[in-house]
Amino acid sequence: MYNFSKYMEIFKINNKNYIFNLNNGCLIEVDDSTIGKMELFKNGYQEDILNDLERQTLIDNQFLVSEGFDEKQEKINHLTYSISKYNNNKDFLKVDFALTDKCNFNCPYCFECNNLSRNHEHNCKSLIETGNELYSYISKFLEKGIKKVEIVFYGGEPTLEKDFVADYIKRIYLLCKEYNTSFQYVFITNGFLFTKDFSDRLPKDCCKFIQITIDGEKEFHNQRRTNLAKINTFDKIIENVNQLISNRFYVVIRLNIDKSNFESIGAFIDNIGELIDLKHKQYLGFDIARVFGSDMSYDLYEYEKVRKVLLSKLMKIGLSKPRLSCKALTTFCIAESLSNDLVLDYKGNLYRCWNNVFDDKFKINTLRDLMKNNLDPLDHTDVTLDFIENLSLENVNNKECFKCKYCKYCQGICPAIRRSILNGIEENIYKDDLCKKIIRERLENEISFIGV
Ligand code: SF4
Ligand code: SF4
Ligand code: SF4
Repeated sequence: MYNFSKYMEIFKINNKNYIFNLNNGCLIEVDDSTIGKMELFKNGYQEDILNDLERQTLIDNQFLVSEGFDEKQEKINHLTYSISKYNNNKDFLKVDFALTDKCNFNCPYCFECNNLSRNHEHNCKSLIETGNELYSYISKFLEKGIKKVEIVFYGGEPTLEKDFVADYIKRIYLLCKEYNTSFQYVFITNGFLFTKDFSDRLPKDCCKFIQITIDGEKEFHNQRRTNLAKINTFDKIIENVNQLISNRFYVVIRLNIDKSNFESIGAFIDNIGELIDLKHKQYLGFDIARVFGSDMSYDLYEYEKVRKVLLSKLMKIGLSKPRLSCKALTTFCIAESLSNDLVLDYKGNLYRCWNNVFDDKFKINTLRDLMKNNLDPLDHTDVTLDFIENLSLENVNNKECFKCKYCKYCQGICPAIRRSILNGIEENIYKDDLCKKIIRERLENEISFIGV
């Protein structure tokens, strides 16, 4: 006896019917007659209303499931989440390394603005000491047989520490090579100082990507992503993006959207071919993100609509692809997992969440203490407990996320946003299932991009 799984979602888009399996990512276009028969079957008709091919296809792709399947899947979702939360991955070490609390820009929406330093002296001593401690920490993991090391360099602006970082990447690259371990690095940068002289000093084959933010067309971008003297940063950044992709570095252009720059970002995408050499577009990716916490922020539901407009522009010129693949429910990020992955600042302080770096209230430990403790799991400080307990899916939204049919596509939203909802800073999207409507809208948009 088979019934339709709750993970089956039906979409009607541009006069076409689609059935989509939210549990395994299977998408099938079906004609009106089959949809009609499926509706009748749902409403109590016998299974034999479907022909053999329809019935077997629906069973093979888990749209039709036997009794208890959905309940079992809910338990599996809880289990995969718990495994990712408590079972430290011994094969992979990731470090998010904030090299400096200084920045050559002065963006109005900077999430770190209260914690950035405007003093322009280098923090050489602390940075070198912390770099050496991290080198020893990684060495100990390599001795234990770890398979992969990844370091994300961010700040402030990491290219303000060009000499340090170029040498440091080479040191870690050689260290990992000695142990036959894979090493990758990432930069999160404003791109202004990412010149050819600098990128020529970096080993290309282990660069995962360089993320560079652009806020819109030249005039708009220069108003926001610049320094107090309002210099033209746009042309230099575009020049640097072009040199990087022509030299086969993978660049992700980050587009931070709010109500003030949506039009300008759209115009930037429309004219992108005049700015960026799309001959090398295989080295170019895009990441569209919502600016949150400002008066000009879109709410999460509005954001899906504007995201769709921008993504569809990118799809039309072959710069983005629909994203429908599905993965197991896991922790959203390392902030809510008890892993040894580190968020580290140049002074050697450790945090759980990127957004809290340089803020003493959120400091959980120091790298030095961690090493003295023989690489034991991170101490259960109040900050860690807040992330792994109070903000955990086990304790927010009445545990609904484990049962939610959209959970593999949502992953329970970013824990920092969960906190903002609990504190009344963000709209409570759990209420009236608004969060589910947002994810459904996102999936509908992604399906509509197929064939664009
Ligand atoms: S470039 Fe980044 S770190 Fe610097 S002010 Fe702007 S948002 Fe903040
Ligand atoms: S909690 Fe959110 S903001 Fe913080 S590290 Fe995780 S994903 Fe990023
Ligand atoms: S859509 Fe809502 S209920 Fe479902 S996983 Fe996301 S936050 Fe949780």
